[in-house]
Amino acid sequence: MTAITCAVKPLRVLILEGNSRAGAKLLLSGGGRCNVTNLKVSEKNYQGGDPRTLRNILSAFSSERAVQFFKSLGVTMVLEEGTKYFPECQSAKVVLEALLGEARAGGVVLETGKKVVRISRADDFFHVAGEGFDYIARAVVLCSGGLSYPATGSDGSGYGLAKAMGHAIVETRPALTPLHTDDPEWKKLSGITLRVRLTVMAAGQKRAVSEGALLFTHTGFSGPAVLDISGPWLRCAEGEKELHADFLPEKNGEVLREEWARIAAAHPKRSWRHLLSLYFPERLILTMLEKIAVDPKTQIGQSSQKDREALLHTLKHFPLCVAGAAGYEKAEVTSGGIDLKEVDPKTLESGKTPGLYFAGEVLDVDGRIGGFNFQWAWASGFVVGKSLLCKFGVSDRP
Ligand SMILES: Cc1cc2nc3c(=O)[nH]c(=O)nc-3n(C[C@H](O)[C@H](O)[C@H](O)COP(=O)(O)OP(=O)(O)OC[C@H]3O[C@@H](n4cnc5c(N)ncnc54)[C@H](O)[C@@H]3O)c2cc1C
Repeated sequence: MTAITCAVKPLRVLILEGNSRAGAKLLLSGGGRCNVTNLKVSEKNYQGGDPRTLRNILSAFSSERAVQFFKSLGVTMVLEEGTKYFPECQSAKVVLEALLGEARAGGVVLETGKKVVRISRADDFFHVAGEGFDYIARAVVLCSGGLSYPATGSDGSGYGLAKAMGHAIVETRPALTPLHTDDPEWKKLSGITLRVRLTVMAAGQKRAVSEGALLFTHTGFSGPAVLDISGPWLRCAEGEKELHADFLPEKNGEVLREEWARIAAAHPKRSWRHLLSLYFPERLILTMLEKIAVDPKTQIGQSSQKDREALLHTLKHFPLCVAGAAGYEKAEVTSGGIDLKEVDPKTLESGKTPGLYFAGEVLDVDGRIGGFNFQWAWASGFVVGKSLLCKFGVSDRP
């Protein structure tokens, strides 16, 4: 995005990509469909440093503008689940090719297999070096991503490059990651997906809520609702936190009470197992009832009001026993990174080394699930591109 934005003559733009191909992570994104952005972007959807910087950057290139930008490259977007923008063609590959095509058209040179291991500054120039190359540049943009999915090329080496230029790194940790459990009963449900509302409770207080699909896996819990809550979960201190699932988020207690009373009156001999099959798959029902010590054969008509209330409460606040998180190999983003306090809040230029800029996930910014992380990448990349045009006194493209 930076390269596209500042590819204006007489500037010459070179992308050095350590991987054998550019955009490997983009290709994986959104299950291969790339959730490009979100209708409702604000700094509240992000964790990380100074909200003022987040606001500046996000407002300089809104999600509406991102949608228009991609349209101008021939990639139209469609809305899913009310707020998530995906390409109409449902293909991350098309998004990547559009970006690479636009960069090429602007004269940007992309060199793959060029992993940068050293950036140094001498007089007014930078040396950007790696195995078999040493380029001289008037400005450098570090947009090397975080630590997640290191096989895509983002192995965290950018943090070392920033540190060598005097920058502090806010402690990094995986975010948007699946959670593990030690409980074999949950693991046996591997493959089941259902809509839930998840809540992180710590010291008796609600810390975070997410809603969406939960996927049981052979190691624990995954799916958008889990990934979304994993950041707040990991940030709460050990020992005092709990993760609760509302397994029936679309129906409140009142609606369920009425529904169950109606069924109990019409079919008093119906079992709980039968009744819950209205909402859940069989395997899940048996596990849930076992966990709360209710015999699945118990007839609804025979259960007391107190028992029903207990079951209702449990289905709405089911404790999920979490033993840890999956780590960077499975985390969609990295929380932490280059400290925004040391970066110009309007241009993203380094406060330590003039001419050095940062964009994307390498900065201490991580967003919720739903297209927010790419929106940060587009917006920060755009801002840096514009800052470079301004720095070198080059007028924008007509
Ligand atoms: C499985 C998965 C699905 C995702 N889905 C979505 C989604 O649908 N929507 C969304 O908004 N976000 C999604 N994300 C997050 C999103 O992909 C990232 O936030 C985004 O790619 C960050 O962009 P970036 O350019 O900052 O970093 P990256 O995309 O990580 O790119 C950094 C690049 O720098 C290169 N590099 C690193 N170090 C060096 C070096 N020393 N020398 C040369 N090159 C180097 C890397 O090879 C890499 O190509 C997903 C992430 C994952 C892992």
